Amino acid sequence: MDLARTDFYLDGRWVAAPTGQTLPVHNPATEQVVATVPAGTATDVDRAVAAARAAFPGWAATAPADRAAHLDRLHTALTARADTIARTVATELGTPLKVATRVQAGLPLTVLRGYVDLAARPPAEETIGHSLVVREPIGVVGAITPWNYPLHQVVAKLAPALAAGCTVVLKPSELTPLVAYLLFDAVHSAGLPPGVVNLVTGTGGVVGEAIAAHPDVDMVSFTGSTAVGRRISHLAADRVARVALELGGKSANVILDDADLATAVKVGVGNAFLNSGQTCTAWTRMLVHRSRYDEALTLAAQAAQGYRLGDPFDPATRLGPLVSAAQRQRVRDHIDKGLADGGRLIAGGPDAPLPGRGWFVAPTVIADVDPDSALAQEEVFGPVLAVLAVDDDDHAVAVANNSRYGLAGAVWSGDDERALRVARRMRTGAVDINGAPFNPLAPFGGYKQSGLGRELGSHGLDEFLQTKAIQR
Ligand code: NAD
Repeated sequence: MDLARTDFYLDGRWVAAPTGQTLPVHNPATEQVVATVPAGTATDVDRAVAAARAAFPGWAATAPADRAAHLDRLHTALTARADTIARTVATELGTPLKVATRVQAGLPLTVLRGYVDLAARPPAEETIGHSLVVREPIGVVGAITPWNYPLHQVVAKLAPALAAGCTVVLKPSELTPLVAYLLFDAVHSAGLPPGVVNLVTGTGGVVGEAIAAHPDVDMVSFTGSTAVGRRISHLAADRVARVALELGGKSANVILDDADLATAVKVGVGNAFLNSGQTCTAWTRMLVHRSRYDEALTLAAQAAQGYRLGDPFDPATRLGPLVSAAQRQRVRDHIDKGLADGGRLIAGGPDAPLPGRGWFVAPTVIADVDPDSALAQEEVFGPVLAVLAVDDDDHAVAVANNSRYGLAGAVWSGDDERALRVARRMRTGAVDINGAPFNPLAPFGGYKQSGLGRELGSHGLDEFLQTKAIQR
């Protein structure tokens, strides 16, 4: 298939990129260039923002039921493309096709479906004394997204922004921009009004900065690294624009002494290695009660060895490559440092066998990790699990909270009340008890340096509203 694209989506039309400058898109399993996309400029961002600004009053005034009908048509158009979406993400990111179908294509459709329903309901108004309190869309939203869940992270911004009555300019990651083009093909066929959503591809340093600093962008909704989130906050602060930030994590999986150990370790390893560990919510620190520690290490090593690396399109593959050569190098460096800092290699590691080409890292488990060491503190974003022993519940909570991040986490115990007590003490935006599944309608977001604001469900929609008090 010819994946190359030469255009932006501006004001309801595909428009040829004026400069002819392009960026390559690689297949990380083959290391080959599979497509190019335009490298946008600040001028392209100006055009996109102007279109979004012009469209805002009309879209904000559109009745909620009509906005919901637009989102419903978008859902239908995107559903028709689900297979192509999964194959495209498998190609540009390397997610095994089965996982790409379920998560990379399936999850955004579920999220979008939820916003069709939420869009239909006008924001609740309230009366406080002689004040009528109403909530209104914030305006033009600049959305900047990363590569690891390239459609989900876009839909988690675009759908609630549109449902709230905002208009959007999107810059997807330059590493995985192709799936965004499929989304905008769906936008076009769904017939969203011109200017309501706009797409400009390019680098973070050029297009991302231009969006974050644009005087006519009312809010910047960003998912990505904490370092870039900080930069975007600074740019937005100059004009006191709102920011929503979904950043990194170093989440703890707390396994208490009365847990079903086999399930806790197996699910925990699977969570840490999902999408080759390139998942912001990954439970990358496994904290095991000392009385079950050795048993847990044996189970974790067995689980890791069951992950077959290979071609994302081969149904037997459970783990794909990392997104880029640079990312692979970062992950290798983290493994080397983790071992140099005293970690004990239990599975994988630098010398484990790998496919002949592709940016692969073997699924790696490192035990006896010092809670203050880099491997326990820094986000690796690769298939690397750190295992630490803890003495009791208080110690588990202290180690879990010994992080500048606070995005996700887990607790396993045979006693639900005990697990809940531990979960409440964890300083993090989400905790799953005994493997409870992800809830796409529940608020998602970080404590501490994992972010600001919440995505998904009604909480995600509220981020795009502002409040007005009318006295009468
Ligand atoms: P990144 O921060 O490098 O890039 C994210 C996006 O920001 C990309 O579109 C990039 O082009 C853009 N960008 C880069 N520099 C910019 C700048 N100066 N101004 C404006 N935009 C800029 O992150 P990444 O490498 O794409 O993704 C990996 C990181 O994202 C990890 O740290 C991970 O934890 C985080 N992440 C967080 C979540 C979450 O929901 N909390 C989800 C996925 C990824």
